[in-house]
Amino acid sequence: EARQAMASFVGPARTATGEPVQVMINVTGLAELRGLDPAHVDGIGLMRTEFLFQGREKLPTEEEQYQTYKRMLEWAAGKPVTIRTLDAGGDKPIAGLTQEGDINPFLGVRGVRLSLRHLDVFRAQLRALARAATSGNLKVMIPMVTAPEELDQCRALFEQVLEELRREDIEAKMPPLGMMVEVPAAALTIEDFDADFFSIGSNDLIQYVAAASRDEPQLADLARPSRAVFSLIRHVVEYADRAGRETSLCGDLAGEPGQVAALLDQGLRIFSVAPGALGPVRAAIARYTGPAA
Ligand code: PEP
Ligand code: MG
Repeated sequence: EARQAMASFVGPARTATGEPVQVMINVTGLAELRGLDPAHVDGIGLMRTEFLFQGREKLPTEEEQYQTYKRMLEWAAGKPVTIRTLDAGGDKPIAGLTQEGDINPFLGVRGVRLSLRHLDVFRAQLRALARAATSGNLKVMIPMVTAPEELDQCRALFEQVLEELRREDIEAKMPPLGMMVEVPAAALTIEDFDADFFSIGSNDLIQYVAAASRDEPQLADLARPSRAVFSLIRHVVEYADRAGRETSLCGDLAGEPGQVAALLDQGLRIFSVAPGALGPVRAAIARYTGPAA
């Protein structure tokens, strides 16, 4: 039965009215790809690279990162692989890198804020990514972008790193550079950001919109997708459609079958979910007949 269920994954998911919807997967490393056929997914919508950095004595070298990224691209066999630069801090501390004793780590130096303050670590990751970009359909995504200048700085650094690799005669390429939309300020002024694509991070977006921690069970009723959250999602999707840029949603919300219709109602057509949610999400998409009247 499992094999039959998998066979129905071939080809794009479609709504009941035949509209194609992409369903990609979120992964943290190569281990999760074992036993998974790339034919059953539309690509990797989010690879969280912090897991390469966590729980070890030394940070991963450029070469180690390059090998991991390259293998993911090889697995995907031409399908898009979206690798997010280090999103340390918040709920993901990394010894020797993130600030200890931060009173409020979710509002602190995390994600791109941290990368831009540790340029040696950031440059090594960008070099590994620029090199891996020659092995497949790589897209690079920046987490926790709040102001347009942060993304501009990342792009400038990427260009510097490419120039450096060119001088060293090392094969490299500039991948499309996109951003996570998970800070309300970015969602509200999305047209100001020079991103090649967007991916909505609903886990953080919800907690920042509601001012209710994603990890506080007592506030679970507040830290839910509200009308405020959906209106931000719609705003981003509508702008991206007008601007001809792709928008996916890679937070846990995308993997909740009961939320799929509401997300499709906002115009979202690219989902990125945990591998285990692929079947239920595709089934929910197949049941969708259009916006509720
Ligand atoms: C998110 O915030 O929705 C997201 C996908 O990123 P993370 O859960 O890794 O913060
Ligand atoms: Mg996030």
